[in-house]
Amino acid sequence: MRRLPIFFVLDVSESMAGDNLRQLQQGLERLVRSLRTDPHALETVYLSIIAFAGKAKTLTPLIEVASFYPPRLPIGSGTALGVALEHLMNEIDKNVVKTTPDRKGDWKPVVYLMTDGKPTDDIKNALYRWQKYYQRQVSLVAIGVGEYAALDTLRQLTDQVLHFNAQSEEDFRKFIDWVSQSVVAQSRSVSATTNTGVNLAKLDDSIMAKMGDLTAAANVDEDFVILSGRCQHTRLPYLIKYERMPMSYKGGEFSLRFDRYHLVGVMALENDYYEFSDDSMATPSINTDALVGSAGCPHCGSHYALAACGNCNQLLCVRGEGAAICPHCQYENNFMLSDGEGFDITRARG
Ligand SMILES: [Zn+2]
Ligand SMILES: [Zn+2]
Repeated sequence: MRRLPIFFVLDVSESMAGDNLRQLQQGLERLVRSLRTDPHALETVYLSIIAFAGKAKTLTPLIEVASFYPPRLPIGSGTALGVALEHLMNEIDKNVVKTTPDRKGDWKPVVYLMTDGKPTDDIKNALYRWQKYYQRQVSLVAIGVGEYAALDTLRQLTDQVLHFNAQSEEDFRKFIDWVSQSVVAQSRSVSATTNTGVNLAKLDDSIMAKMGDLTAAANVDEDFVILSGRCQHTRLPYLIKYERMPMSYKGGEFSLRFDRYHLVGVMALENDYYEFSDDSMATPSINTDALVGSAGCPHCGSHYALAACGNCNQLLCVRGEGAAICPHCQYENNFMLSDGEGFDITRARG
């Protein structure tokens, strides 16, 4: 039996943390339940899950639908699309059986690539390798999620670029159903004919648009800031999300425009955050004066999750004034509470 390899390459950068990731996690479970009810999919489809943020890793190597269990999705810092593509191409080389004169190999692989941001790495080399050696051998469906997705970059990888803008959980369920219908359609078509194109189910254009001309796709500045810190007591990471509120001030002789960021929420993360984060990236900084609303530590309940280490400038949680060992660099800080001047803290990206 010839296999139909399906790769999911999923962006798990920090902007996915929270509802998006939970929906994606549930979506994978829904997808597998639905594929298991289809005899063609059960017979031919092999699934693999690759996650990427600042780094890329295979969470589940190519495996038949009947034995596939959705992996727990991690979160990391960065959106290294170039790294993800290189990883994908290496996985294809390693795992997809090629057709030779005396052996029928696998069917043409299908890749669903999902990302919600702009690449934080240089994708030039990966793009060259993809276009030269893979573009015609692999069907890639690229899905830009939300308003900040770099659709013009995706367009360089494939003609099949879709833009998904979820307004509700129901939209997300429709989207997952569309993916599973497309996978099933593809498995039927390879069983029936020698068709090598990719079959996509009919789109529900209320939630998804096929991108033809992308000249109008503007570069939007992200409207939120995501800070990452580490719990002093459990040593586990967390994210703090702020949303931008533009403000302006007009005085008699001058006007001033400045932005403030309001607290959206705090999210507890697991230790694999560090495995998926690119620690070589320059970390931009933001002044805490611009942040409105403070957060507690989601791991240990300490009151302050925004204390910045005096040595490495990374964030840690503290219960209050006094000595605190930095969980990042082991430096012994002595914190004092004050409402005075702001201090610069490390700001995560992706
Ligand atoms: Zn803590
Ligand atoms: Zn430190």
